[in-house]
Amino acid sequence: MKPLRKPLVAANWKMNMLPTKAVSFIEEFLIHADPSHDYVIAPPFTHLSELGQFLRKGLKLGAQNCHEELSGPYTGEVSASMLVDLGVSYVILGHSERREMNLRENILVSKKIKTALSQGLKVIYCCGESYELRSEGIHLEHIINQLEEDIGVDLGKNLKNVTIAYEPIWAIGTGSSATPAQAQEMHKHIRQWIADQYGSEFKESIRILYGGSVKASNALALSSQPDIDGALVGGASLDIQEFVSIGQAFNTV
Ligand code: PEP
Repeated sequence: MKPLRKPLVAANWKMNMLPTKAVSFIEEFLIHADPSHDYVIAPPFTHLSELGQFLRKGLKLGAQNCHEELSGPYTGEVSASMLVDLGVSYVILGHSERREMNLRENILVSKKIKTALSQGLKVIYCCGESYELRSEGIHLEHIINQLEEDIGVDLGKNLKNVTIAYEPIWAIGTGSSATPAQAQEMHKHIRQWIADQYGSEFKESIRILYGGSVKASNALALSSQPDIDGALVGGASLDIQEFVSIGQAFNTV
């Protein structure tokens, strides 16, 4: 039987969708989405204010990044407190695309997580290995190293506000997802690390999402794995029917 962790399905729109199109997208999404399911929509910063009007139980807003400081001379940046002020509940941190774009991101993730949590945001923390690391057979160690660097410092009870997203880099935007067995192996490994580091209370309660080419056609097989508690969805989250079907798949097991 699957443990009682309520599935979370989160949309990472990345740098897609015009703000003027986003309102009608969400209106239509809400017609089809089951209000008892948990969804997060993480649009670009420019959409957050407008989309705040659609918040309700089961639909929360997420941002795709935030700065590690709360204010100051950081041209072009957005702080965690600004997000909270707009009604944002979640922030995605550590996404591999940001780690690739900004060479300092790897060392900033841990500070960003602490800052976001200090402002009351929930964090969707992303980790994942490259194709090369998996080919060398060192993917499990690599993820543990990432977890240790980014959330290994004692977050204490605040860990409950962190959702981990395992996103193998080789599966993001490629159309070829990890197999359910590959994802389950890693999720189980991550869950054991949580138990070792933070104790059994967190081992059972922390949600671990899978991300990387999740679509309606593979969602059910992924969701039936015992340690996969939802999905972080990029490309398929821009298609209402696909995204709703993914939500349904994760809530049928
Ligand atoms: C992502 O970028 O978080 C992601 C999982 O993308 P995709 O679903 O398109 O692979």
